[in-house]
Amino acid sequence: MITSAQLFEQACRHIPGGVNSPVRAFKGLERPPVFIERAQGAYLFDVEGKRYVDYVGSWGPMITGHADPDVLRAVRERLDNGLSFGTPTAIETTMADLICEIIPSIELVRMVNSGTEATMSAIRLARGYTGRDKIVKFEGNYHGHSDSLLVKAGSGALTHGEPSSPGVPAALAEHTVTLAYNDIEAVEECFAQIGDEVACIIVEPVAGNMNCIPPVPGFLEGLRRVCNEYGSVLIFDEVMTGFRVALGGAQAHFGVHPDLTCLGKIVGGGMPVGAFGGKREIMSHISPLGPVYQAGTLAGNPLAMAAGIALLSKIREPHFHDALTSRVETLCSGLRERAEAADVDMITQSAGGMFGLFFTAQSRVDNFAQATACDAAAFRRFFSAMLDQGVYLAPSAYEAGFMSSAHAPEDIQATLDGAEKAFAILSRA
Ligand code: PMP
Repeated sequence: MITSAQLFEQACRHIPGGVNSPVRAFKGLERPPVFIERAQGAYLFDVEGKRYVDYVGSWGPMITGHADPDVLRAVRERLDNGLSFGTPTAIETTMADLICEIIPSIELVRMVNSGTEATMSAIRLARGYTGRDKIVKFEGNYHGHSDSLLVKAGSGALTHGEPSSPGVPAALAEHTVTLAYNDIEAVEECFAQIGDEVACIIVEPVAGNMNCIPPVPGFLEGLRRVCNEYGSVLIFDEVMTGFRVALGGAQAHFGVHPDLTCLGKIVGGGMPVGAFGGKREIMSHISPLGPVYQAGTLAGNPLAMAAGIALLSKIREPHFHDALTSRVETLCSGLRERAEAADVDMITQSAGGMFGLFFTAQSRVDNFAQATACDAAAFRRFFSAMLDQGVYLAPSAYEAGFMSSAHAPEDIQATLDGAEKAFAILSRA
């Protein structure tokens, strides 16, 4: 039997770091990543035959569990017709109609191949529409890896972001202003100085890339107000939150409606899909309707549309999200109880079907500074112990966890039993 460790060694020969996306590498965890052979429902099965209760769900898409038979059937039914045509297909219209029906702030929508493309395109559109160059984003929010978005806060000066990766030109990064999440006063101050130059604010309406941080009351409302006042475009990056925090995304949950929305993950049912859409007036500037260029050879791919439509249709069932949310609450309260019993400082935060664990004595975590002040070493020990117990959490203290409707009460119970042992290890450390 080949092991994950052997496969990782082989992978490292011709794949940078052995992985096709960095967070998969288990960096800092002192163990090789787990190589998965197959998945079913709430479970991952690794190449060594070990089963894990999975709370990553392919980083979000698997909201009804892995290998959902309805999604697989929809793909199989299309398969023999061919993989891609590069022409319009009826199924793209079905997808667009479905998205616009579920998320009413979207009047026109364009399909792309990833979340990164969705946010990159939405930002180009916001810049093209407003004729302004500057964008505002928030520390600890991740919007994919396009140049304008790989930017961290500059040292003090509001107007000069710094590249957060070599290869991002400083001349481009200086158009990105990075502010603290959940700090509406910082946004107001920024706009008082440069509001007339800001094309857009882009925000994760629940932050899921610095663990799980919901917006404080008034934050999203404040962003809406400021954008209205200064004629800037408000972009919600709902790549993670879309169809997960609620069917209609975080915007439905919090009742704040953006001008543009970026989607990914669930919208593709596990296939490589993203989308961006919003107000007709703004979206009409996209080519071929308008002058802002955006395109994609495989965009709207029929198999990907079939998977996404099957999944979206399924999660529209009444009370799907209520049940998902209550599973998250059962898991989180069970984890808190067991942490407390073991005398481990840990809190949980959640929104709908996403959640996060913070190893901290703080009572809540609202921004990047607070998230990074948590005990990352404790998280790593917990993660590793949970893996040994057959529970697959996201391998980073800064990633959200994802629940699926395939997680049965006994899976959650098994997770809590595993956590009891993991917390015991932590409290001995
Ligand atoms: N936006 C958010 C909020 C995300 O969580 C991610 C990926 N996790 C992206 C954008 C980028 O999506 P992709 O990895 O599909 O490019």
